[in-house]
Amino acid sequence: MSYSKPKFKASYGNFINGKFVEPLGGDYFDNTSPIDGSHIAKYPRSQKEDVEMAIDAANAAKDNWEKTSVTERAALLNKVADIIDENLEEFATVETCDNGKAIRETLNADVPLSADHWRYFASCIRAEEGSVAELDEHTLSMNIKEPLGVVGQIIPWNFPLLMLSWKLPPALAAGNCVVLKPAEQTPSAATLLMEKIADVFPPGVVNVIHGFGPEAGKPLASSSKIDKVAFTGETTTGQLIMQYASKNLNPVTVELGGKSPNVFFNSVMDEDDAFLDKCIEGAVLFAFNQGEVCTCPSRMLVQEDIYDKFMERVVERTKAIVQSNPYDVNTQVGAQASNDQYEKIQSYLKIGKEEGAKTLCGGEANKDGDLSKGHYIKPTILEGHNKMRVFQEEIFGPVVCVTKFKDEAEALEIANDTLYGLGAGVWTRDAHQLYQIPRAIKAGRVWVNCYHAYPAHAAFGGYKKSGFGRENHLMMLSHYRQNKNMLISYDKNKLGFF
Ligand code: NAD
Repeated sequence: MSYSKPKFKASYGNFINGKFVEPLGGDYFDNTSPIDGSHIAKYPRSQKEDVEMAIDAANAAKDNWEKTSVTERAALLNKVADIIDENLEEFATVETCDNGKAIRETLNADVPLSADHWRYFASCIRAEEGSVAELDEHTLSMNIKEPLGVVGQIIPWNFPLLMLSWKLPPALAAGNCVVLKPAEQTPSAATLLMEKIADVFPPGVVNVIHGFGPEAGKPLASSSKIDKVAFTGETTTGQLIMQYASKNLNPVTVELGGKSPNVFFNSVMDEDDAFLDKCIEGAVLFAFNQGEVCTCPSRMLVQEDIYDKFMERVVERTKAIVQSNPYDVNTQVGAQASNDQYEKIQSYLKIGKEEGAKTLCGGEANKDGDLSKGHYIKPTILEGHNKMRVFQEEIFGPVVCVTKFKDEAEALEIANDTLYGLGAGVWTRDAHQLYQIPRAIKAGRVWVNCYHAYPAHAAFGGYKKSGFGRENHLMMLSHYRQNKNMLISYDKNKLGFF
């Protein structure tokens, strides 16, 4: 079965104060599909004045939104989840068209998982318990959580609807109003969502502005009229965001890049076992979502005594990956999201060769038939050592760099020898390793005998240069609130100091 390119209007506006509005300067940019280079639509090339208009709308809405009951807010978040679910195929085709990812991912992962994040925070906000402590027989201490006010959110292009659904629900559930900027490469899913939910929230509670980083993202992150910036994107951009926000002493959370190790111990090797098959798939998951995942298991570490046999199976499985038209439900790997990304990956393939990395499979663009019109890279395995640039720098494509290790100590040394600390995978049948190795890896998420699962109730975030703050999980609400402590005395007697 195959889907086809969805229909779009000629142009779209920013979503501000409950309405779609044209950019004040009248400028738009063209959005194209990485599947075949075809035109999608025009989106606003917003500037500072558009951003300010959105921030003003959010500020005007915040007092009333803050006063809504958690029951009301939860009901609205659940309504958004229902709308996403009811329009599954439309969201999935728009997302595939915009980003190039295979439709089986958008249909089965990105869109349903996005709905689930809205539902999860609707439940969290109702289930939360307050904290009141009796300090002594006359005194109560009450911790009250208050929203921050207006939050600026900036997201990347690799999971457009899901990244939005990681950001908006906790901020809204906590009682904040939001101005969100999607990535310029993938503006469509956020726009479709705003069309579908235009009447769900009071005007100004949710605002979406489109445009480029320096022109629209910078004025948002630098504004003195917002109360927090939540950013997901590259590490270097995250550093800029922190600089912008520091002028206003605004709190920041940054979810940044990664170079995640995926470690296979020799106990996984048992030819007759289904678990080995699971491990081989776990190694090949580097190609999931065209490798455009912040936690892409892009460094594979395999224990030396199983290396040859294990890698033979991994290469065989990688070569069998179906890379084809992303609208076809049988396609496993689609197109890279943009021409910039396509060229960046190819430049790293060249760097790898110059550094002496050996190509075990792939290693080039895929120009078979119609794929020549889009941005396709063959799933690639490079063999080398951890000091090479291809092992150290984020390629963000379907490329894995593989190396051997002798023992646990060497596995840990290589796994932690990176600037990043976002994700990691550990595969073993050894009960000791199952616990001790993940504990010793410096990363915010370690998958053990699995990979690439992102449930709403599991906290996610980085160590080291992969950022700070967390996404998902109940704890996320605390990133969007401040605590008011009320200390109440029921004592009739004065302190007696004066
Ligand atoms: P990017 O940093 O180039 O852009 C991200 C967003 O920031 C976009 O909306 C962009 O317009 C905006 N931006 C760019 N320059 C800006 C500036 N000067 N001021 C304000 N905003 C600016 O990242 P990308 O290429 O869109 O995304 C890929 C990166 O995102 C990878 O490094 C990936 O690892 C990371 N990522 C991290 C996570 C995570 O949770 N840690 C999740 C997804 C992606």
